[in-house]
Amino acid sequence: MKDERAREDMQNKRSRGYVWLVGAGPGDFGLITLKGLAAIAQAEVLVYDRLINSNLIDRAPAGCEKIYVGKQAANHAMPQPQINELLYQKAAAGKRVVRLKGGDPYVFGRGGEEGLYLAERGIPFEEVPGITSSIAGPAYAGIPVTHRECASSFHVFTGNFKDEERGLDFANLARLEGTLIFLMGFANLNYITQGLLAAGKPAGTPAAVISQATTQRQRTAVGTLADIEEHCAAAKLSSPAITVIGEVVNCRPQLNFFEQQQGRGVLVLRDARQSDIFAQKLRQAGLFPVSCPVIQIEPLDWQAAELQAALHKLSTYSWLVFTSPNGVKAFFEAMQAAQVDWRALGRAKFAVIGRATAQVLQQFGFGADYLPAKQVSDALGQGLAELLTPADNVLLPRSAIADNRLYQLLSAKCPVEDLKIYDTKICTEDAQELRGCLENGQAAYVPFTSASTVDGFVQACGGPDLARQLLAKSRAVAIGPVTAARMQQLELPIYAQASEHSLDGVIEVILQDLEGKEND
Ligand code: SAH
Repeated sequence: MKDERAREDMQNKRSRGYVWLVGAGPGDFGLITLKGLAAIAQAEVLVYDRLINSNLIDRAPAGCEKIYVGKQAANHAMPQPQINELLYQKAAAGKRVVRLKGGDPYVFGRGGEEGLYLAERGIPFEEVPGITSSIAGPAYAGIPVTHRECASSFHVFTGNFKDEERGLDFANLARLEGTLIFLMGFANLNYITQGLLAAGKPAGTPAAVISQATTQRQRTAVGTLADIEEHCAAAKLSSPAITVIGEVVNCRPQLNFFEQQQGRGVLVLRDARQSDIFAQKLRQAGLFPVSCPVIQIEPLDWQAAELQAALHKLSTYSWLVFTSPNGVKAFFEAMQAAQVDWRALGRAKFAVIGRATAQVLQQFGFGADYLPAKQVSDALGQGLAELLTPADNVLLPRSAIADNRLYQLLSAKCPVEDLKIYDTKICTEDAQELRGCLENGQAAYVPFTSASTVDGFVQACGGPDLARQLLAKSRAVAIGPVTAARMQQLELPIYAQASEHSLDGVIEVILQDLEGKEND
């Protein structure tokens, strides 16, 4: 309801021009507000800066005019008065304009100037605050800006004086008990540290510099007021960076959650409906799901004559065979849609390919009667075939793209009905996000959990050659032999194959690999 009202509210601002000054947060895609994301999703014009997560820009609707006005340190891509005028002109022409700025628009973001310019000209606008890098950057480096024992205030300064021609009042700064935070000050780090030292701030005061904070490229140098510059040079840190000075830096060893997580990103390529389970399992294992679905599961037409016929003679089957959790779900949903009495299944036995499928079956109230030791379709076919007699009658509800081998193995023993119950479609909507995650090393591991995820991945990457290139920084894991065979066909590198062919098995391989890396 609330979402709807927010959308309506935004749509009402459609008829006349309107500007949203939106804070994009410090870099991590997840650190934007819901309100900010909703504003982007309905923008007709998007005016954005440097340092904005490209995934946010991709959230603008098709047809949105995207205008980059970003500034490089010395070369202003578009002077501020021109940006002000651009926002005004677009809004005056009746457009819904989103001005997307890094961090919070009103923290050294010149959002105030833009707002005033619009207000003076009668353009309606609102500001959507963002998470400022001055707080989030230290937080992602394990540094709280306040702490009851050592900092009861924090102070954020600009370290860039080119525009202002006034320096910092170091005598005042050195007296402050709170944490000192400097934005835009990387080039002036020497001036800042020397100024504070000269004003009497102790040389041993802990200091940290965080570069590219909250992104997968985040790096932090830690030292003291006296030697932080050397540490930055040794670590080859570069701008954009935040400098933090104060005792709170000492919390970093215990609180540094984010940098410890780097290298633990796992790409999730499955349909969003299913990927929840995988994402949850990954999080429980201390890994970080990066979701970019390339396949979509769609139930087939439940009115189809073949399906209706099978559902209405369920009591004639002695075995139902399921090869995936999706098959189980789609089957029972179809039964519900067709209002079939579940007692029709009273005498049937159930065979499943693996534990995950058995679990979903259990959710519907049925136990699995047969589960092969090896969770692959050949093992299921061969093992079950041994139990079948010519008097049996098998129903095999599964994907429309399943291969024929299982059917052949079973039908050698008794009648088998291959029922196509859901379709697996490739979707490449998130292709850009996917390529970004691979290029910036955010997805350390790329597990392929079915042959269809391999196909979807290759299509989203733009072909096998590009897919191979994009995988260069990641480790590709195959869930089992069928998936691995498809990867081999397309000449994708296989870093490892799960020994148990399940999501848990995939997670196990990744955890083992990480353990190996840590022990190196
Ligand atoms: N409005 C922004 C600040 C804009 S000034 C905010 O609230 O965060 C630009 C400065 O912010 C940079 O020079 C740098 O000091 C800091 N900054 C912004 N994003 C950063 C990031 N991801 N990592 C490190 N510093 C960042």
